[in-house]
Amino acid sequence: MNGKDLDVAIVGAGVGGLYAIHRLRKSGFRVRAFEAADGIGGTWYWNRYPGCRCDVESMEYSYSFSNDLQQEWRWPERYGTQPAILSYVNHVADRFDLRRDIELNTRIRSAHFDSGTGLWTLEAENTETGAVRSVRASHCIMATGNLSTPRTPGYPGLESFRGRWYHTGLWPHEGVDFTGLRVGIIGTGSSGVQSIPLIARHARHLHVFQRTANFSLPARNEPMREEKESRHKSEYEQRRRAAYSTPFGIAGYPPPDRSALDVPEEERNRIYEAKWQEGGSISFLYSFNDLLVNREANETACEFVRNKIRQTVKDPKTAELLCPNDHPIGTKRLILDTDYYETYNRDNVTLVDARSAPIREILPGGLRTDEADYELDAIVFATGFDAMTGAMKEIDIRTDRGAAIGEKWADGPQTYLGITIAGFPNLFMVTGPQSPGVKSQMILSCEQHVDWIANCLEHLRAEGLGVIEPEEAAEQAWVQHNNEVADSTLYPLANSWYVGANIPGKPRIFMPYVGGVDRYKQRCDAVAANGYEGFRTAG
Ligand SMILES: Cc1cc2nc3c(=O)[nH]c(=O)nc-3n(C[C@H](O)[C@H](O)[C@H](O)COP(=O)(O)OP(=O)(O)OC[C@H]3O[C@@H](n4cnc5c(N)ncnc54)[C@H](O)[C@@H]3O)c2cc1C
Repeated sequence: MNGKDLDVAIVGAGVGGLYAIHRLRKSGFRVRAFEAADGIGGTWYWNRYPGCRCDVESMEYSYSFSNDLQQEWRWPERYGTQPAILSYVNHVADRFDLRRDIELNTRIRSAHFDSGTGLWTLEAENTETGAVRSVRASHCIMATGNLSTPRTPGYPGLESFRGRWYHTGLWPHEGVDFTGLRVGIIGTGSSGVQSIPLIARHARHLHVFQRTANFSLPARNEPMREEKESRHKSEYEQRRRAAYSTPFGIAGYPPPDRSALDVPEEERNRIYEAKWQEGGSISFLYSFNDLLVNREANETACEFVRNKIRQTVKDPKTAELLCPNDHPIGTKRLILDTDYYETYNRDNVTLVDARSAPIREILPGGLRTDEADYELDAIVFATGFDAMTGAMKEIDIRTDRGAAIGEKWADGPQTYLGITIAGFPNLFMVTGPQSPGVKSQMILSCEQHVDWIANCLEHLRAEGLGVIEPEEAAEQAWVQHNNEVADSTLYPLANSWYVGANIPGKPRIFMPYVGGVDRYKQRCDAVAANGYEGFRTAG
């Protein structure tokens, strides 16, 4: 065994890590996954805030690797709730006997590569006892997640707060009872928008502190319709295949062929209205073919949604404050909601403009902005994550040749295909930066990455090769391509977590690949077909 414990060490047991166990075991590799939490499921384990729900329809947001699984599983609603998705993930782990290769309560603190032995040594800390041990593996897969490092803003005084505070991404398992409490929620991204209507139902008063207004569309969630489910199931395999030929990895939305500017205003608004009634984000963004590339076209969609907000929210000042005006629609992940804007018509909900009067400090009895003090019994931070690079950078990843991930990515991530990193042999990422991961149906992207990695490892084994690493030039070309594609769209105009804008001091780099799942998969397949073009290998 050359002193190694494993062929492949997998860090993380979310949907990506779980599939990696299954797929690599099938190829005969000795694998083990290490997970910091005391349960599996990643995102769906951690994010237990009220209203947490998937924004991709449940028939799509599921694994495709087993037709039996996708035929048998029954989703109760159009969009999966966090508990429904977590129970699905646990079912998958049991059904495919994954648990025997998962170590829970185990945080990987460091991963060091030694070129002499060709092995990665991982330092694994038991999160309950603090005991640390080493694990040696030939290859390492970081399935650590893009949205798995919650960040709470460093307001002074938080430690003095007498009430309870929560982060949506670290929600208590026993739930939180807000009945009769004065609650403040900070942040109006996806987690804020999903939880605000539900918290408002119980709180005595809810103050929503908004720095940036975001676009949200109605989800139109509903119980799963039987005819829809059976039609989908009868077409499942074709639909899954077709999904790889679409930009977002979701089939069933015919690509639009008209510009928003080629259509008279009345007809344009009729089209937007139909999409608004249908619910869902892709459908809306597919109203016209230039919404993400032409500012003027995009503005027509922005104004349609702003008018919806103005029609829904009774207080004109609150409505105007809720109207996003600092980014084109769709350039941040579009939020889907249930009764978000309607919630501002409740007497017990107040929207506070935290842009014109920023939050200055947390007080023992509430919080202070530049304008006023607010008395609060509980604070909810819906402030998001150190997205895409946070979890990787929390691990001390380095090699004996002097490469260290913290230094390499100091000015932003550099990767080849979002899967590998020059200078770090035998290291792979699932949906890393510069892959379309977060711009797609992510289970599909996890499966595509893991399949690509598994095929690569099978190739190395067949060729008797021990080491693979991307060439610097291939990586630079990929980074440049990534930037060029982003610059040809409106995406970089938004101050979003795609550019790290929610984390003070984080370099402003556009991180996801927005050329589409279709183009991206073709490129990954071509790299493999051309004998792992752009990689150097050794025995
Ligand atoms: C609130 C929310 C809603 C979302 N909704 C959607 C949606 O509608 N559609 C969609 O496609 N995607 C959505 N996503 C994205 C979601 O993250 C992915 O769909 C998917 O769950 C990612 O799976 P993963 O395995 O890659 O990562 P994760 O689920 O994040 O799992 C990573 C795991 O790695 C573990 N880990 C990290 N670092 C270490 C370490 N050093 N040692 C040990 N373990 C570690 C973490 O604890 C975590 O369990 C959402 C994300 C959030 C946060």
